[in-house]
Amino acid sequence: MIAYLERFVHENDAESNQDDDVSTISNALELKSTIDAAAAVSASKDFGGIYSVEPLAFLKPSSTEDVARLIRAASSSPNLTVAARGNGHSINGQAMADRGIVLDMRSLATGSIHVGSAYADVSGGALWEEVLKRCLEFGLAPRSWTDYLSLTVGGTLSNGGVSGQAFRYGPQTSNVTELEVVNGKGETLICSESENPDLFFGSLGGLGQFGIITRARILLQPAPDMVRWIRLVYTEFEDFTRDAEFLVTRSENDSFDYVEGFVFSNNDNPLTGRPTVPLHPTQEFDPNLLPRCTGSVLYCLELALHYNNTDHPSTVDTAVTRQLARLGFVERLEFQVDLSYMEFLLRVKRAEEDAKANGMWDAPHPWLNLFVSKSDVAEFDRVVFKNLLKEGVGGPMLIYPLLRSKWDNRTSTVLPDGEIFYLVALLRFSPAYPKGPSVDKLIDQNKDIVNYCFAKGFDFKLYLPHYRTEKEWKRHFGNQWSRFVQRKLNFDPKAILAPGQKIFSRRI
Ligand code: FAD
Repeated sequence: MIAYLERFVHENDAESNQDDDVSTISNALELKSTIDAAAAVSASKDFGGIYSVEPLAFLKPSSTEDVARLIRAASSSPNLTVAARGNGHSINGQAMADRGIVLDMRSLATGSIHVGSAYADVSGGALWEEVLKRCLEFGLAPRSWTDYLSLTVGGTLSNGGVSGQAFRYGPQTSNVTELEVVNGKGETLICSESENPDLFFGSLGGLGQFGIITRARILLQPAPDMVRWIRLVYTEFEDFTRDAEFLVTRSENDSFDYVEGFVFSNNDNPLTGRPTVPLHPTQEFDPNLLPRCTGSVLYCLELALHYNNTDHPSTVDTAVTRQLARLGFVERLEFQVDLSYMEFLLRVKRAEEDAKANGMWDAPHPWLNLFVSKSDVAEFDRVVFKNLLKEGVGGPMLIYPLLRSKWDNRTSTVLPDGEIFYLVALLRFSPAYPKGPSVDKLIDQNKDIVNYCFAKGFDFKLYLPHYRTEKEWKRHFGNQWSRFVQRKLNFDPKAILAPGQKIFSRRI
């Protein structure tokens, strides 16, 4: 039973087809019609804060069957679309539906995490933070994460889901063995590598185009008790990438369990400069340790090693010292801290609390995420980090290597061609205009960066892509475009699902 339908009442709501749509849906589902202004507002916004699009209705399904009935009802109308909304952490309105139905996937999440010995069955609307906490009760944990865990399972699996473990286990989409999906025809299907494989692989990284993920089976591993979290400073991009690539291509017992990195400004700015590197309030970044001639930007390699309470402290120290001895960071510019595995995985929560306190969490976030091939990343650094963004973006500028062979090319995510490519994330945080720069200016800067990559013929792709025209989407998917279109025709022939991605138009 769907809990309620929030109808958006506009002054000019005389548009009769809107009324018809509402009554079609209400009748088909025997809904109670109520208005919930707070929920209405959240369905028309996302973390990006750039677009605001009002849906016709915001529904809270309480079962997979509710989702299926709703899609079948939308299918019987000539123009309704349906968007699953995970936790609304998209940047460019991807979970919105202009005068369509938005489904609150969080309402499917309650009590929905079942932990086995090798995998967990979780709702598509569960947050990764909820999955972590439940699995840790059994001493287990998923293998591949995102940096921030207030994202839903269905939301990240629709894109990829990457963090510092992805070099070893692949993205989150490589760590799922089965899905329950309601496709665009309102059919509920179980899919896996051997059962309905095209829907399974299509949905992974599928930008919500082929079905709504209502359940996922996530691979687990024994969870460590503790983590040694380490940051190392580099002045030269070549040294930084050499060490990062060295670590992500070692065997499992000969490297760290997590490898990431970021670029920061060589100044005292507390949000973008040297003070962002130390891991504990008692630690300080001493600029006197830097060589005399350093540039305007510096690089930080961020590592983590898992261990258990039963491991002797000296064993951990020895293992870390042995690993660090092989790396070429600036001598003594290293920071280390020990914390529980849960604290480590929830580390971004502290940054979220700070950003909420100073209003930056609710300001617009014109973020840009790219995958840039190893072959072009040094040139990208030279032009973008060392010049265009040398003052920073107000928040983290992540850069770390990933391995193409850890991604399954049957999924829908598109990647650069080379085996090693870098995740580049420009996570802009600035006060809302006029206190901070105008959003349009920042969006233009993003466009300049992307256009520069195209103009130079870089081997790169947008991650969490945002395009508006078919021509751009075709270019994005390249030789995978025809497969993507065929999957759409097979699983969502009327193009009802995820209209906010702006890839296909609703068909009758
Ligand atoms: P939403 O924004 O609600 O939805 C995203 C898209 O997926 C929409 O098209 C929606 O219709 C569709 N969708 C949602 N749920 C489902 C479902 N169950 N079935 C089918 N389609 C669905 N990404 C990383 O890879 N690594 C990171 O470290 C990382 N960190 C982030 C930190 C922050 C603070 C933010 C804001 C984002 C971060 N992201 C990261 C990006 C994030 O993975 C994506 O934006 C993701 O889509 C957000 O999940 P969500 O649950 O909020 O999805």
